[in-house]
Amino acid sequence: MQLATQVEPTFGGLAFRPETKRAIRALGWTQPTPIQTRVIPVMISGKDVVGQAQTGSGKTGAFAIPLVERLNATVRTLQGLVLVPTRELAIQVTDEIRALGRESGFRVVTLFGGQSIERQFAELRRYPQIAVATPGRLLDHVQRGTVKLGGATMVILDEGDRMLDMGFLPDVSRILSQTPSSRQTALFSATMPTAIHAIAKQQMRDPVWVRIATPTPTVETVEQFYLEVAEEDKVRALRSLLNKEEIDSALVFRRTKHRADRLARALRSDRRVGVLHGGMRQGARLQALRAFEEKRTPILIATNLASRGLDLPEISHVINFDMPEDVETYIHRVGRTARMGRAGTAITFVGQFDLEIFDQLKRNLGSSLKRHPLNLYS
Ligand code: AMP
Repeated sequence: MQLATQVEPTFGGLAFRPETKRAIRALGWTQPTPIQTRVIPVMISGKDVVGQAQTGSGKTGAFAIPLVERLNATVRTLQGLVLVPTRELAIQVTDEIRALGRESGFRVVTLFGGQSIERQFAELRRYPQIAVATPGRLLDHVQRGTVKLGGATMVILDEGDRMLDMGFLPDVSRILSQTPSSRQTALFSATMPTAIHAIAKQQMRDPVWVRIATPTPTVETVEQFYLEVAEEDKVRALRSLLNKEEIDSALVFRRTKHRADRLARALRSDRRVGVLHGGMRQGARLQALRAFEEKRTPILIATNLASRGLDLPEISHVINFDMPEDVETYIHRVGRTARMGRAGTAITFVGQFDLEIFDQLKRNLGSSLKRHPLNLYS
């Protein structure tokens, strides 16, 4: 006889409203991830928090659950604001907040550049309680008077380091200056450069710091290979891998959008291949993402755009066609596979110009980085 297991998932014993509990259950989440365990109680208590965590850690849920728990869905004012660096992340974060807050009756608006501002006006007229926005477009709305931030009592800065890299900090500061000084602020960032510490100091009140060890790809979860291949033979090597490896879905990283396009052209005859980079129009990017998610094009050639922030489930392979710029980028890219405990394979091409970074990689990863058995030159 089998004993009945827990009837009601407790989600770490955290006490939520019934609507939130049901939403969590509907998402199939039974246990909070480490960042959720640590961040949710702090945010629900109203304190500021700085969380060092990567995409894949469940950090969106860590702030989305407190948003829908603390804000009031019956009031028709914008109370929650999430600032994100990219459109893709904006869409993903919106989806997750919507899923968690729908039953409570929250309206969530997404505001990013490249999308018709009229459509955004229309959504704003429906009085959303929560906005997920990229900084530039949000400022545009604030200046037009179509978004008022005077009621924003909870503000989340997601992927702070990436917003910093993209030059959004002045915009972020201007946005924060429009919000009440009594607001609660949460800042999430994968890395903590000095400028991020400075924001925490200037813009936050006595924040609680939560650091979740970087989910560095480990030998148990990701098999990491390198493959020495001359620049001019890389396409041949990739074709060979794509035919030999058992690929469920793969991200193939290139350093620039032009190189990504060039590789996509070279592989045009392979119908499994799609491409995604920042130079594409918004509609085309979303189409590429969708085709990849639905496995119509299970092999996606991408720039670093896809290495952070995007929640692409179930990637079996990460192929670094171009060597990542540094070890951190490598970790981000490889972190796209083997997420939430799934197994994955990472293969990094080492060309004749990549030896310096390859040395650094070997020093950081040690014996977990193995030579790939493929031999092009025998
Ligand atoms: P994130 O780091 O927020 O991008 O989340 C990574 C993925 O984990 C997303 O697909 C989430 O839907 C999923 N996720 C978040 N929290 C949980 C949880 N507690 N249990 C299972 N999956 C989760």
